[in-house]
Amino acid sequence: MTSHEIKIHFQQYASVEELNEPDKALCLESVKALQNSHSPYSKFKVGAAMRLQSGRIIYASNQENVAYPSGLCAERVALFYWGANHPGDPIESMAVTAHSDEFKIIKPVTSCGACLQVLAEYERKQGRAIKMLLYCQGGPVWAATGIESFLPFLFFEDRLTQPNQTPAIRHLNLVGEGGNKNL
Ligand SMILES: [Zn+2]
Repeated sequence: MTSHEIKIHFQQYASVEELNEPDKALCLESVKALQNSHSPYSKFKVGAAMRLQSGRIIYASNQENVAYPSGLCAERVALFYWGANHPGDPIESMAVTAHSDEFKIIKPVTSCGACLQVLAEYERKQGRAIKMLLYCQGGPVWAATGIESFLPFLFFEDRLTQPNQTPAIRHLNLVGEGGNKNL
């Protein structure tokens, strides 16, 4: 048996004011995206704003459904829209924020595993890491570039075709004697 430790890195900014101008602007755009949230069931609005290389901003929000599993998170609404309409214009960054009329949100909202898996898919498709900005209005912002910062054990396509080769965690900073190449 060998034991391993995975370290992830992210930056915390005390407020949106500490960000550089483009990142701050994108966070503020994510607030605009909240207005089209369709969330009558959770009453928890999530807005996402995604900046593409061209400068285009894609807005998205969570879209719920009375048949609960039919709804979709803001992040995947943005990503699938991008995949269907602008796949040649790489995604640079995505800001995500949330709002509830029922309680005060004091921490950045973090994306669900399914959204992170989709983010990873498109990072690979475009060959470029995506910067995530998780913005708590009136509170901190968490930032990290590269989805593996959030979801170290991604499901990669190599698991479908070469199960005993190239480890999915090869990009990670494994602690230990050079990492275990056989994971
Ligand atoms: Zn999600």
